[in-house]
Amino acid sequence: MEVKFSTRSAEQLKTPPASMSGVVFGTVFSDHMFCMEWEEGKGWHNAEIKPYGPLMLEPSSMVLHYAQMSFEGLKAYQTDSGEHVLFRPRENFKRMNRTSLRMCLPELDVEEVLTALKQLLRLDSGWVPNEAGTSLYIRPTILATEEAIGLKVSSKYLFYIILSPVGPYYSQGFNPVKIMVSDKYVRAVPGGVGFAKTGGNYAASNLAEKEAKELGYTQVLWLDAVERRYIEEVGAMNIFFVINDEIVTPQLTGSILPGITRMSVLELGKYWGLKVKEGRITIDEVLNGLKDGTVSEVFGAGTAAVISPVGTLSYKGEDYQVSDVETGPVAMRFYEHLTGIQYGKEADPFDWVESI
Ligand SMILES: *Cc1c(COP(=O)(O)O)cnc(C)c1O
Repeated sequence: MEVKFSTRSAEQLKTPPASMSGVVFGTVFSDHMFCMEWEEGKGWHNAEIKPYGPLMLEPSSMVLHYAQMSFEGLKAYQTDSGEHVLFRPRENFKRMNRTSLRMCLPELDVEEVLTALKQLLRLDSGWVPNEAGTSLYIRPTILATEEAIGLKVSSKYLFYIILSPVGPYYSQGFNPVKIMVSDKYVRAVPGGVGFAKTGGNYAASNLAEKEAKELGYTQVLWLDAVERRYIEEVGAMNIFFVINDEIVTPQLTGSILPGITRMSVLELGKYWGLKVKEGRITIDEVLNGLKDGTVSEVFGAGTAAVISPVGTLSYKGEDYQVSDVETGPVAMRFYEHLTGIQYGKEADPFDWVESI
């Protein structure tokens, strides 16, 4: 793939924030973005790295009406030795292709887009922050751009990658989160698009998140849509339980987003010789286990926070405390190790880290 470069001149370059403290997640963007277009009969073309800026879209563009789109989220890190690296980036583009198949979007060539991403990252390398726990968040996106409001599959698409420097998720150490189990709304149904990182899923969960926040909880824990019993996941994180010293996470049923952090926790746990299991977990099992002490930890896993300990679970108006609202040893070990691998402090036995 031939990538055209139309870069900013020295005077047009912006200055990255001197410190990430106080910068709200996802509100600052680097100097450049990668774009390419797709058209029926032509495939992907017009690959270009150009200044970050507004897109030209007609109001009739299909994505604006029917949400035919997919997106991804991954990060670039500066290691202790000053090198810039990615964490399992191929998994993100492979997942994007799985989302795209479901959403009737064109697939990407994983190696080609990864090469383009690295070109963009090398150009904007000054935007990878280097304070402890910071990173450069990467957002690849595909949009249906055909100018037509008749409902059908679009014949034109735009793919782009934008970069946003972000601070540490926990600026003052771990802060176990309060989570509300939703028994009113559902996130995804069997046969639907729950496994896909596509915009509508998130728009549809906003109301539940808003109501939970009004009651003092930070996120929603979703149950399965059919029986409203089986645990699925949190807003933008997969969920893990430590039950009788076994690490358990809901199995992927098609309505759960297959997180790369989730997969990494499972692989790392197995490598350490811990008991790890994917299975069906009911909300009753968890609440009873919290009462009798057999559930010792609950934590979320996702790119943004890496590991997020849960301190309180609320269900049908009742609060249940988890491990005295302290971060448990299992969550701490995964957090230390995964971030250790990402920042080059720990050995990387699986070759998860990729140089830029
Ligand atoms: C992105 C996402 C996750 C976490 O996936 P990672 O690849 O670990 O970042 C979990 N659940 C939902 C709904 C998500 O959108």
